[in-house]
Amino acid sequence: MTPHKRRTIFCGLQWGTTGSCRGNSRNGVARESLTMDCLKSCLDGLQRYVWSSTLKDSTWTSKEYEEYELEFKSYMQQNLQTLSPAEDFATEHRDDPEELQRKLQDLLELCKEANYIVVFTGAGISTSIGLPDYRGPQGVWTRKLKGELVSDDLGLERSAQLQPSRSHWAISRLHQNGFIKFVSSTNVDGLHLKSGLPKACLAELHGNSYVEECESCLKPFHRSFVTRTATGLFDHRTGRYCELCGGPLRDIIVNFGNTFEHVPSMEAQHDAAWLHCLKADLVLVLGSSLSILTACDLPEECLEARDGKPDGGKMVIVNLQRTPKDPLASLRIFAPCDEVMAFLEEALLGTER
Ligand SMILES: [Zn+2]
Repeated sequence: MTPHKRRTIFCGLQWGTTGSCRGNSRNGVARESLTMDCLKSCLDGLQRYVWSSTLKDSTWTSKEYEEYELEFKSYMQQNLQTLSPAEDFATEHRDDPEELQRKLQDLLELCKEANYIVVFTGAGISTSIGLPDYRGPQGVWTRKLKGELVSDDLGLERSAQLQPSRSHWAISRLHQNGFIKFVSSTNVDGLHLKSGLPKACLAELHGNSYVEECESCLKPFHRSFVTRTATGLFDHRTGRYCELCGGPLRDIIVNFGNTFEHVPSMEAQHDAAWLHCLKADLVLVLGSSLSILTACDLPEECLEARDGKPDGGKMVIVNLQRTPKDPLASLRIFAPCDEVMAFLEEALLGTER
């Protein structure tokens, strides 16, 4: 196995991918989706947050964090110097109704023309069911950086009640009917599987909160509860043991600062996502800020011309905030994912469900 160069990226609450995936992270620097003012207040907030003894956030008070703090500060300062007001990735926008209708028709045409559609989803497809996103105005990461206390469980502990969003259901049905070939997601909420999307057609790039796997025989176990019990960034053991071989079980969440070395099964997830993006002639990005390496570089892999798609592929981005990848998109839609996916499902499958 080729050793992966370790790369540390600052990302959402405690996870985000950092492994170098087949060298596809070409840009090198992920721009945090925050405005200048926000970045400034974040730096102050970070200082307060890290050193506050009253906070009970194990991730941020762990020893490993100290190492990251310095690197994080220089990262933020670099962004402060390079981020122009025109590159505002924090403000939410919405297309006016007429413009949205035009764009939806364009999207429908693109979907009808495409032979191989891959969907890439982020936290934005789960916000309508009450889960937080990371970089929206009320996002977990935005709030943490402002120094606010944010709960670690993210609402995932309510797993029994947690139901897929309109977008999840639409994706699952469009897959069932042959329109969507593969889904890559940075979400750890397990809702794509809950909506009936087959595991073989899904890459969960940052893991799944309800899965733990055996360190020895690698067998995954799907649970009805959140499996992670460890508090250190590089700790993954859950304290439970494999029902087959007795080996220790580990959660598969890609924590802040982790590489494939720490969560080995993620390499296969990334590779699958990468190959399907290469093959795709249309990648539909839903509710992602497209700012976290290495996952954020996957959708654009569809753009290059290859056998079977001499003109290259196209990328469509649906997100309320601008993203650093917007210039690469053939179509950019500023609307809630549920609205777009409900339209697409009805237009492609009819109202019968
Ligand atoms: Zn085992």
